Amino acid sequence: MDLIYRYDPHLPISVECPSDSAAAMRLLCDGNLRLTSVVAQMQKATLGEGGVSEIVVPMSPVSLGLPLVAGAVSTQRPYALVLGCSDARVPVEPIFDQSFNDLFVLRIAGNVLGTECLGSFDYAVRQFADSLKLVVVLGHTGCGAVSAAVETYLSPTDYADIAFTHALRSLIDRIMIAVRGAAGAIQQVCGRKVQQHPNYKDALIEVAVYLNAAITAFDLRREIAAFGGGSMHVVYGVYDLATLFVSPIPAAHPTKPGFAPAPQQENLTTLGQQLAQAVVDKGVLGE
Ligand SMILES: [Zn+2]
Repeated sequence: MDLIYRYDPHLPISVECPSDSAAAMRLLCDGNLRLTSVVAQMQKATLGEGGVSEIVVPMSPVSLGLPLVAGAVSTQRPYALVLGCSDARVPVEPIFDQSFNDLFVLRIAGNVLGTECLGSFDYAVRQFADSLKLVVVLGHTGCGAVSAAVETYLSPTDYADIAFTHALRSLIDRIMIAVRGAAGAIQQVCGRKVQQHPNYKDALIEVAVYLNAAITAFDLRREIAAFGGGSMHVVYGVYDLATLFVSPIPAAHPTKPGFAPAPQQENLTTLGQQLAQAVVDKGVLGE
């Protein structure tokens, strides 16, 4: 199988600049779908199950967000602002098949919202008011920061061992609200006895990952509105390390990427229960 990047200087160059949040989401979803389908083709080839023999990817310096001529410098024009996790398996641009100058990215363990992080958002929303159309909070399955918060929730006596520095404690404390919400939601869906289930911790981590992304998006929308970005559309999604799809709801076999708008406060409890039900439907808490 050949993966060919092709530049033809005689072909017209088109650069997509999304005009609104829906177009920005489409670009990100299309990019994530390109990633998942290319990898699926390679995985098929690995197993000798066929797949395509050649994929040609047209590109030019301009579509890559780079200068067309030597020595020129591009003006910064990101169309989306993304808050993701620092996890090495979750690089934002490759996940959405995006390039230079497309995304303004902040990566913090657990995609939590700290003061310096908000300062960067404040700067970006003011500085790139013309090009920015969307704000995305991107969580991911198997998040180490969320797992550490779940560990401290389940074993409070080990809190000092897990969060042994002030910095780590502040990170874990910010995620704890999502963990508590996830625990309550799972209990409401499955009953109290669920805590005895051998996969309870895995289920709790998974629900907390999605809820943490949703709650961060909820907080971020409020903060952005406070510094004058009230019209900015804020959404969230979670990158699944197993399927490579970005989605706002857990699914064993997703077929298309997607995001959900930052929830309203009154919908957070219902959202927690929907996430818990989706994790149950995936079979995480099966017999
Ligand atoms: Zn993480």
